[in-house]
Amino acid sequence: MPNTISEHIEREIARIKAELPCGVELLAVSKTHPVEYIQYAYNAGQRWFAENKVQEMTQKYESLPKDIKWHFIGHVQTNKIKLMAPYVSMIHGIDSFKALAEVNKRAAENNRVIDCLLQIHIATEETKFGFTPYECFDMINTEDWRSLTNVRLRGVMGMASLTDNKAQVQTEFMWLKETFIRLKLGYFRDKPTFNVISAGMSHDYRIAVEEGSTMVRIGTTIFGKRY
Ligand SMILES: *Cc1c(COP(=O)(O)O)cnc(C)c1O
Repeated sequence: MPNTISEHIEREIARIKAELPCGVELLAVSKTHPVEYIQYAYNAGQRWFAENKVQEMTQKYESLPKDIKWHFIGHVQTNKIKLMAPYVSMIHGIDSFKALAEVNKRAAENNRVIDCLLQIHIATEETKFGFTPYECFDMINTEDWRSLTNVRLRGVMGMASLTDNKAQVQTEFMWLKETFIRLKLGYFRDKPTFNVISAGMSHDYRIAVEEGSTMVRIGTTIFGKRY
């Protein structure tokens, strides 16, 4: 490996950005990696980063440039929301009304409106978090979320099964898009900001983009393996 890690990070970001169609955003998933790596990506022009542990993200937020947009992609634990509410840019893993209400409360305390995505369980594996589409519509149907004025629902997020079966992964991303469209037509028709489908990781982002993703979350390809 003659190349340094900073060259690798810079090259991969440029390569992925060139490959993504117009309108698809790149989120650099920096979880477990040191702030130096994030700084290299930042120097290469990357501004959107994602983490899945609130404490780790907060430490990184504190020591890095303030024009970085921090996306939280981990499981939302209600007792940790307070810590990220002052600065987090988007929370991808909303999977209950309770979580959304807690984000709303903490956002209000900070005089902020926080962008949120509804995490939809599209994989066949049982370990992944998220609403089933049925549960999601159940929650949205109540209209209770309309009173939460310090959160803004921006769209959906999903993770496909970890499998080499491309057809299955395609089908799962299609379900995600279908859920997005049904939500959009039923409840967010008048909200142009309900426009995010967060889908695709290092191993499946090309399929996700083919199936309508507007935001890919890529870690390993950019930063290397996590230990
Ligand atoms: C870690 C993680 C990613 C990035 O995964 P890579 O395979 O490293 O690209 C994307 N989304 C979520 C929710 C993650 O936890």
